[in-house]
Amino acid sequence: MIDRRFGLLGDPVAHSLSPRMYRAAFAHLQIPASYEAHRVPRGDDEGVRRTMRNLAAVGGGNVTVPHKEVAARWLDARTTEVEHTGACNCFWLDEQGRLAGDNTDVTGFLAAAADLEGLQLDGGAVLLIGAGGAARAVAAACASAGVRRMDVWNRSAGRAESLVSELGLSGIASVIREPEFSSETYDLVVNATSLGLERTDPLPLAMEAGRFRYAFDLVYGPGGTEWTRHASAAGIVSIDGLSMLLNQAVLSLERWFGELPDREGVVRAMWKEAGGPVTS
Ligand code: NAP
Repeated sequence: MIDRRFGLLGDPVAHSLSPRMYRAAFAHLQIPASYEAHRVPRGDDEGVRRTMRNLAAVGGGNVTVPHKEVAARWLDARTTEVEHTGACNCFWLDEQGRLAGDNTDVTGFLAAAADLEGLQLDGGAVLLIGAGGAARAVAAACASAGVRRMDVWNRSAGRAESLVSELGLSGIASVIREPEFSSETYDLVVNATSLGLERTDPLPLAMEAGRFRYAFDLVYGPGGTEWTRHASAAGIVSIDGLSMLLNQAVLSLERWFGELPDREGVVRAMWKEAGGPVTS
């Protein structure tokens, strides 16, 4: 019998692999819990608060596009990562009954970036595309990994300016415009926009060989995304968001249940459900 309920809030959410991955983890751990996607429309901040409260009372949950920054504001207790980024992707009720939250995207991003063999973030140069909740996690992660320079480009430049100032990154990060007309070179380019979620979306940035060594798309898809395929065709080593999704999900499970009895087995079960590589 189901005795705890978890869920994902976002808009859109129908594309998300999270419900299937978490259900696979619960089955592997023999935890009687459910996980459902909840569409909360963009702009419905009160709906975000209500859904977080309702889910936290019976288990907990995750937050995705476009609600991570709103979710952070509704919390009673925040981890350092939430304080630092102003974004929350994982929440629960703590022992004092407070709505508590974390940002597991920060560590999830770094764990996935480690899959890019040869990428050296320490001392490297990064072009970050986007300035929403996920971009904040990527910026914080890159800063903690010691990047030398980070250029931030976003459709709404003001939001990129806020990201740089609110995360205290003015020493290493600059807001740029029109990177397609620049000849700057970067070790890593990251798509942290929601471009790629819809089949009709344009590419976040057209890529040329030589300007970028690695590309990381936070969006994921079967066999990668349009943008990772475009990057690979230009000779740029690329990765989509699946590994990050998995890594941040394992950290979320640890927030809800404490140390996992068979972490490797959980990772394998989730990868298998997501269609990723399974190593024995
Ligand atoms: P968000 O807070 O809503 O931010 C959306 C970002 O996308 C903003 O920078 C926004 O620019 C930009 N954007 C949206 N539509 C655009 C368009 N038509 N043209 C150019 N830019 C556009 O969302 P989020 O939480 O940061 O999530 C961003 C993406 O990362 C989503 O696709 C999400 O699924 C993905 N993600 C993946 C993982 C993972 O584990 N793989 C984790 C976190 C997030 P404006 O500021 O100008 O609106």
